[in-house]
Amino acid sequence: MKNVVLLGSTGSIGTSTAMVARDLPGKINLVGLAAGSNVDRLADQVGEFRPRMVSISSAGNLPALKESLQSRGLAPELSSGDEGLLQLATMEEADIVLVAIVGTAGLAPALAAIRAGKDIAVASKEILVMAGEIVMEEARRHGVRVLAVDSEHSAIFQCLDGKPVDSVRKIILTASGGPFRTKPADEFADITVEMALKHPSWVMGRKITIDSATLFNKGLEMIEARWLFDLPIDQVDVVVHPQSVIHSMVEFVDGSIIAQLSTPDMCLPIQYALTYPDREPSSRVQTSFPTIGSLDFEEPDTSRFPSINLAREAARQGGTLPAVFNAANEVAVSRFIEREIGFPGITQLVEEVMQRHKVVQYRTLDEIIEADAWAREYASAIHP
Ligand code: NDP
Repeated sequence: MKNVVLLGSTGSIGTSTAMVARDLPGKINLVGLAAGSNVDRLADQVGEFRPRMVSISSAGNLPALKESLQSRGLAPELSSGDEGLLQLATMEEADIVLVAIVGTAGLAPALAAIRAGKDIAVASKEILVMAGEIVMEEARRHGVRVLAVDSEHSAIFQCLDGKPVDSVRKIILTASGGPFRTKPADEFADITVEMALKHPSWVMGRKITIDSATLFNKGLEMIEARWLFDLPIDQVDVVVHPQSVIHSMVEFVDGSIIAQLSTPDMCLPIQYALTYPDREPSSRVQTSFPTIGSLDFEEPDTSRFPSINLAREAARQGGTLPAVFNAANEVAVSRFIEREIGFPGITQLVEEVMQRHKVVQYRTLDEIIEADAWAREYASAIHP
């Protein structure tokens, strides 16, 4: 039985994690839940899973949550805000903390969990992009695991199966190509928020869905992979694979390639991260090759989707640049959703912020946080 703290329980990854916990009642015990503002869904989850501790982002939502829980006869320990996340991340009985809060708000609780000796399962790739070196170093120092929830990184982890990095020629991240894979560049200016929110293979939160349309998601994943697997960015490759059946591959030094496949379902990598090193039976994911028919591959078109090259450049220069790349993208995505900038403006804005940034080869987390704050401010002020 694993005692699991789930940060971001009401989101797309959070609700898939709840499904996994429902599938495996004797194996996964949700002892702590944190959400942003969805009081009703959080209260339902508390009713179903009976966690000891619950936190909600804004203290203003606590009375409504309390009332809803009391009406069901539930009285978990309640807290809120950053402090609530830290309390959950360090709960004594927790074995593993799954971080699925969109953006970088999960960084401080992830570090707190590591320092308290907990394994972490990371869905929030942004925290590894921002501070991957520090997170991985702290995990090594405290002897805890950083397990991947992202399907691509879970695939790489499964393919590597403990092999040392010097046995790897390269890792190959697969990308669906997003909804605009075949759209000509001169039509990008007409892309609306509604069009960008329709992903061909996955149903996900809004931010990652837009990131998948710009391919920034793949860029973030490249940097995430660089830290998770301790490989130089030039050994991290991307191939477009529209069916999203191969979740990623490892090419070993002898030329052999191992891939991990299944029909797309986030419950699979979530379950693997939470039950690792065991594999628990589940009938949820069923793959039929005759139904899939064929698997296709293409080179990513970096002239229409420059985000791949921007990510590579951020990782090559290192220092504070990946944090700036990530922060500028977060601001650009929310400005696009607010209809302040157009779809091509997302990439233009990130590129401009990166060009303006004076890269610092940081030694402390504070230097990264400073760069992140600078990038957010600058990205909010300019008009691409
Ligand atoms: P969603 O937007 O669906 O969910 C985000 C979750 O975070 C919600 O539960 C939200 O609460 C909660 N939240 C937001 N801010 C806070 C806060 N300050 N404190 C506590 N909780 C907060 O996102 P996804 O689930 O899609 O993505 C989460 C992360 O996982 C992202 O980093 C994404 O890149 C990554 N990921 C997602 C995948 C997917 O398939 N969705 C696949 C791989 C990675 P509320 O809804 O109550 O406001």
